[in-house]
Amino acid sequence: MSGPDRPPEALPPGVLAVGLTGGIGSGKSTAAAGLARRGAVVVDADALAREVVAPGGEAYEAVLARFGRDLVGPDGQLDRARLAATVFADPAARADLEALVHPAVGARMAAARLAPRPPGSVVVFDVPLLRPAHRQLLALDLVVVVDCPPELALRRLQEGRGMAEADARSRMAAQPSREERLALADWVLDNSGRPEELEAQLDTLWAELLRRARAGSPPTA
Ligand code: ADP
Repeated sequence: MSGPDRPPEALPPGVLAVGLTGGIGSGKSTAAAGLARRGAVVVDADALAREVVAPGGEAYEAVLARFGRDLVGPDGQLDRARLAATVFADPAARADLEALVHPAVGARMAAARLAPRPPGSVVVFDVPLLRPAHRQLLALDLVVVVDCPPELALRRLQEGRGMAEADARSRMAAQPSREERLALADWVLDNSGRPEELEAQLDTLWAELLRRARAGSPPTA
């Protein structure tokens, strides 16, 4: 799949590509679901990462070769919880896993970007670890960051998702900082308030996304 040098005419016309990111517990999944309800096509990088390490997936054999065949359960599936525990404790192992998984996920996302869709479509790429390179790879028109104070994210992860505090803290610490994420944003969804307040912001964002998608569509007769 070609990258930054891909000719712009290869992109499907009238399709708006949006990157959506946010720290764990910020409300990114809630925002992605809200945009899907409004009509966006959501491409979920986490779901693609699970697919590429499933049996027959692009990275399955390479992950077993690197991390051991004993990671496979009786059902043939990779024990993702054990793999996660291994790489969480070992930065070099984590880098190895990312080097195996990220290119396959990137290729699948790039294919989704190039897929023909009806003019006026909005495609949201839900990417927990969105990097500046994704902007080029996916020819993103806009990057949206879901933001809330880290202490609030921590509380929501404990109360809403039943996560242990230490677990939530260590996952948050392994991510880019709030400032690094915000530096990527063209649009910020402030999720420090009530769920209804996020919904109101999603209405405003969605209206703007539709406007831009339609402005990029060829005029209809
Ligand atoms: P992320 O995908 O960023 O990790 P989620 O969307 O899963 O975050 O949100 C984390 C938890 O906080 C979930 O249980 C979710 O229901 C809850 N939550 C999200 N937004 C709000 C909000 N504005 N007020 C209260 N709880 C929220």
